[in-house]
Amino acid sequence: MDLNSLTIDGARSAIASREVTATALAEAFYDKIAKEDGAIGAYLTLCKDRALAKAAAIDALAEKGEPLPPLAGVPVGIKDVLTTRGIRTTAGSKILENFIPPYTCTAVARLEEAGAVVLGKMNCDEFAMGSSNENSAYHPVRNPRDTSRVPGGSSGGSAAAVAAGTAIATLGTDTGGSIRQPASLCGVVGLKPTYGRVSRYGLIAFASSLDHIGPLTRSVKDAALVLRTMAGRDPMDSTSAELPVPDYVAELDKPVRGLRIGVAKEYFEEGLDAEVRSSVEAAIQALAGLGCEVVPVSLPHTAYAIPTYYIVATAEASSNLARFDGVRYGYRSKNAATLSDMYRRSRDQGFGAEVKRRIMLGTYALSAGYYDAYYLKAQQVRTLLTRDFDEAFKKVDVIAAPTSPTVAFRLGEKSNDPLAMYLADVYTVTANLAGIPGISLPCGENHEKLPIGLQLFGRHFDEATVLRVAHAYEQTRSAQSGVQ
Ligand code: GLN
Repeated sequence: MDLNSLTIDGARSAIASREVTATALAEAFYDKIAKEDGAIGAYLTLCKDRALAKAAAIDALAEKGEPLPPLAGVPVGIKDVLTTRGIRTTAGSKILENFIPPYTCTAVARLEEAGAVVLGKMNCDEFAMGSSNENSAYHPVRNPRDTSRVPGGSSGGSAAAVAAGTAIATLGTDTGGSIRQPASLCGVVGLKPTYGRVSRYGLIAFASSLDHIGPLTRSVKDAALVLRTMAGRDPMDSTSAELPVPDYVAELDKPVRGLRIGVAKEYFEEGLDAEVRSSVEAAIQALAGLGCEVVPVSLPHTAYAIPTYYIVATAEASSNLARFDGVRYGYRSKNAATLSDMYRRSRDQGFGAEVKRRIMLGTYALSAGYYDAYYLKAQQVRTLLTRDFDEAFKKVDVIAAPTSPTVAFRLGEKSNDPLAMYLADVYTVTANLAGIPGISLPCGENHEKLPIGLQLFGRHFDEATVLRVAHAYEQTRSAQSGVQ
């Protein structure tokens, strides 16, 4: 058995049937990390002693014949913007280089309670700001499919580890596409749930009204398993929804025949790579072949999504990042004469260029003289974008689109052109602005064998239908091409 290519589902049955121990599984992943992660750079911190202790506890349970929790012994990686008690959490920034959180993020705590074994913390763009992982203050991540290319971002380490087989599943965060876009570029599954479905307690905030936590996995079923474990009300996050959590796994095999799949022309216009377009169109045809009805819909405000996102996100970021002042935790400049000099120097030395750019843009958008012209206007357009989806979802059950306009680009290709980088998010930011669920799953490869992702959006809190359609598509694709 190739332990590194197991799915969660495969790993838990192998552990439950005692074909493999949790300890052997964790060791296999650390061996592969030692051999291969040097060339990829997906991990920032490993916590091997802690992981092996956890694996040993699972093995002890299995030995006694006790019932095992749902993710018993599953080796996972956690994006480094999610706090983990006792394990260094940097947010990809020098300002938190030595930060050891005193508490664990709810989403991670729920995975650990379900038996998951945390291998380490995943590299990401600094404070999750970026689309290529090149904004990490430590080192970039390379795409395992072609190491001259980016893995996407900001959850680049999370996507690359799943693609490389150095974690079975990982958690990422998605403020404007940061789970779905790297999933697409690395050829794995990435799910952004509905806003409020998963608690954000312990997520180091970038833009609080847009931030989401979700899984990156090898299969849609694995994404359903992780979501089922993490979702649900948490008293520590007042925005987490008080709604029952469906059994996403049980719902996967319900038939998709008769479901209506919306296709919006605004997602297939200028700027979309021809090979990406034909792969996504073929995927939509495959869904039609499963008995889904393909229905044209219109999302007329899509063209305003990028400017709207980059105002709302930077405004919220400028406010959230005010807490990094060198006083309470994180980096403090040593050579300051006065208190305000200490704030200024700590922030100047601790933050990278993109983070500073966002703080300045956001501060400007929120400033008294410009607030109405930028922030207020952006919030109004955000409402229009949300209404576009509300209207469309009166006619359809899910909406299909590309995840990213292109396949993985080369390292350095866009790093000196922030605007070009921002445009990489054109198909993903809308779901964050509207708060609806979105998934990316592999639907093909271009002529250079680089992965292409299909994106599916659903109604608020209807992850079950999104996952069901994604699962049905994944099953036909693997049946046709032998892809697992
Ligand atoms: N690429 C987008 C940005 O740079 C999205 C980031 C994210 O989703 N965290 O803001």
